[in-house]
Amino acid sequence: QKLVYDFTEGNKDLKDLLGGKGANLAEMTNLGLPVPPGFTITTEACKVYLDSGDEPPELRDQVSAQLSALEKRMGKQLGQADDPLLVSVRSGAKFSMPGMMDTVLNIGLSDESVNGLAQQSGDERFAWDSYRRLIQMFGDTVLGIDGELFAEALDEAKREQGAVSDVELTSAHLKALVEQFKDIVLKETAREFPQEPREQMDLAVRAVFDSWNGDRAKLYRRQERIPHDLGTAVNICSMVFGNLGPDSGTGVAFTRDPASGQQGVYGDYLQNAQGEDVVAGIRNTVPLADLEQLDKKSYDELMTIMETLETHYRDLCDIEFTIERGKLWMLQTRVGKRTAAAAFRIATQLVDQGLIDEAEALQRVTGAQLAQLMFPRFDSNGGVKGADQIGWGIAASPGAAVGKAVFDSYTAIKWSRSGEKVILIRRETNPDDLDGMLAAEGILTSRGGKTSHAAVVARGMGKTCVCGAEELEVDTKRRRMTTSGGLVIEEGDTVSIDGSTGKVYAGEVPVVPSPVVEYFEGRMHAGADDADELVKAVHRIMAYADRVRRLRVRANADNAEDASRARRFGAQGIGLCRTEHMFLGERRELVERLILADARSEREEALKALLPLQKGDFVELFESMDGLPVTVRLLDPPLHEFLPDITELSVRVALAESRRDANENDLRLLQAVHRLHEQNPMLGLRGVRLGLVIPGLFTMQVRAIAEAAAERKEAKGDPRAEIMIPLVGTVQELEIVRDEAEAVIAEVEKEHGVELSLTLGTMIELPRAALTAGQIAESADFFSFGTNDLTQTVWGFSRDDVEASFFTAYLEKGIFGVSPFETIDKDGVGSLVRNAAEAGRATRPDLKLGVCGEHGGDPDSVHFFHEVGLDYVSCSPFRIPVARLEAGRAAA
Ligand code: PEP
Ligand code: MG
Repeated sequence: QKLVYDFTEGNKDLKDLLGGKGANLAEMTNLGLPVPPGFTITTEACKVYLDSGDEPPELRDQVSAQLSALEKRMGKQLGQADDPLLVSVRSGAKFSMPGMMDTVLNIGLSDESVNGLAQQSGDERFAWDSYRRLIQMFGDTVLGIDGELFAEALDEAKREQGAVSDVELTSAHLKALVEQFKDIVLKETAREFPQEPREQMDLAVRAVFDSWNGDRAKLYRRQERIPHDLGTAVNICSMVFGNLGPDSGTGVAFTRDPASGQQGVYGDYLQNAQGEDVVAGIRNTVPLADLEQLDKKSYDELMTIMETLETHYRDLCDIEFTIERGKLWMLQTRVGKRTAAAAFRIATQLVDQGLIDEAEALQRVTGAQLAQLMFPRFDSNGGVKGADQIGWGIAASPGAAVGKAVFDSYTAIKWSRSGEKVILIRRETNPDDLDGMLAAEGILTSRGGKTSHAAVVARGMGKTCVCGAEELEVDTKRRRMTTSGGLVIEEGDTVSIDGSTGKVYAGEVPVVPSPVVEYFEGRMHAGADDADELVKAVHRIMAYADRVRRLRVRANADNAEDASRARRFGAQGIGLCRTEHMFLGERRELVERLILADARSEREEALKALLPLQKGDFVELFESMDGLPVTVRLLDPPLHEFLPDITELSVRVALAESRRDANENDLRLLQAVHRLHEQNPMLGLRGVRLGLVIPGLFTMQVRAIAEAAAERKEAKGDPRAEIMIPLVGTVQELEIVRDEAEAVIAEVEKEHGVELSLTLGTMIELPRAALTAGQIAESADFFSFGTNDLTQTVWGFSRDDVEASFFTAYLEKGIFGVSPFETIDKDGVGSLVRNAAEAGRATRPDLKLGVCGEHGGDPDSVHFFHEVGLDYVSCSPFRIPVARLEAGRAAA
């Protein structure tokens, strides 16, 4: 088996085998670009090593052969005493994985060859500095020595010399430092720093293999859902040096601006330096454009290469390069990361340049990026004036939030009730903070990462959140926070947090609405001459998506306002109108009467009062969705939601009784509350069960729908109502409701002398319904998958409690990378959906299929629903553009 590939042998499509870095180095080599010669050890070799604990037996010989070829080509041997070939050893998996061991440079230097390097380069200081770096990197990443020990020794040396930066250290100082570093190695590992160059290389390769199973790498893979068995490749590349004087240097470049997508010269350059100096910020970099003055020849060559790369990859590329004494070398390239706005702009620019077609443009953007562009953001036009950045944490949940600092949930709730906007600031949050988080505009913590409780819960709530802002010291006892600069933020001081960048400001930063939302709302036109470039790009991409998508997109909406917004955002109907939302507010009292009714007459009275109100709602809704389907779901939630809280009511009645003035109504109410109290209301008297138990309730709703439709018809409208029965577990339930509903509809049709063509279908949201979908389809015109309840019942997770309880632990342990309430669990819940869809259609080929759980607006889930052949997804109005885009991407 071939386990080692020369850079001339690979190409960019071999990422599985050569890793991302190796595949792209090979691609550049074959494009004739100046890549320092080298070779890649495959992921296959790594896999064998990880499985067996040993390198594959043939690896050593293959590496030897490849190394000799390299030595021959370079005219010198690895570590050769008088003129050493030096190499770098770098990891490179298929997916880039921050947190893995990265690089060891200068392999091949030893006590002997350091002199050879000094001689050849004519620069003694450079040679000893290179050796110093080797021992430091090797000690840290290969031998596992605490990097602080080296850093401290270096600092100490600088202090002794009164030097500010290490460039001020002379070769004599560096020689002494090398001795110290070697002592550290001996002391920490009980053996000498290896002098044999091949041994250095082999140990570094092994360390790269081992790093695949480091704790951080494993955790990262679980979270990102990268399979654990891919392994990493190892790249061995001949060294070139950017620190050989003023005609040398190192830099990074982008073929376009990764922030805006604009073409131009973007990047940074650092003269007389190596890559890690840029990261360490020892000296300030200069803009890439300045390279033209410094080294015109290299600059021109780089510009030509950038054009070649962009045309070749047909995308934005980022590049690492080094100039060694006036000669340009390419060290790395890859398709570059970009901001959400740039992604849209670049995709359309590339279409205009004829580099990609529309279908490909759709693959270059994501629904998550579109969602990001729809959050309000801080005004970047100098708006940050008057507010100082005081910290920087992890951008955990996007958006911009401004409010008064509060340090406990109780205050957050109290202040927000009195109309204040607050930012809840905690060291970290826990489930007790839930209500406070809900009340706050945004959440800021000084501890924890992207999967901390605060981050997970905030994302679930759609709240802006910055977490892990470590330089902020939060003192909840004294209700204040101190910045690293000593500024104290007291309770009540205004702070602003940016959940898209992680920045934290003292004071108020003005918030501007997203131009993309302004566009979807119809307040900004993509066609206008001065239209925002981003808006134009979004407009075009959305048009591509709409042209190709097969899935229709509907909205979950239960009032005319949401319905109209949904329509502006492109909804093709309503997939779920939750009628329980129409029973709250002032109407709650009527529902209370309905529940309390002992006698038939009382019940009928209550229903009669509700009927016109319901009908009015539907008339409005059908009007705003005229000509488009509207699925109205009959009442679903447990009845106790309409009744007073059991504890509060008990206390009130007990107090009244002690004063002997308890009133009759309260007593009756308390009885009813007790009667209807359930331990597991979500599994109790809900949905169709209610309809079967409370006579007249569902028929009242059906009548309201039918009369509203008749009224709209008489007004020359085009109502297209669909009646949906929730929480059905068996076809018998559906048959009973259906018979009653059909009778009512026939009556209304007769009364009004119109034909209403109402359809009647069911939600599939219980496992039993999914498993007997073939039978249920006999009584249903359509299915709408209620994936919220289906997820709850398939997993046995309480949808109301679980995210705040043990999900953080599950996410941290990598049991899932994302909540199954957010992204459909394809293997479990998804397979029920797939089978039920098939069984339903087998019974009734024209059965209409949709989904109205939260998953309807989730990008990954939309692709799944496309794949299993549903007709539509339904989601909240704000997610409609995302669903349209993803449906297009799924079909393109
Ligand atoms: C569902 O269960 O997926 C659903 C849409 O209904 P609700 O969220 O109202 O229970
Ligand atoms: Mg449900």
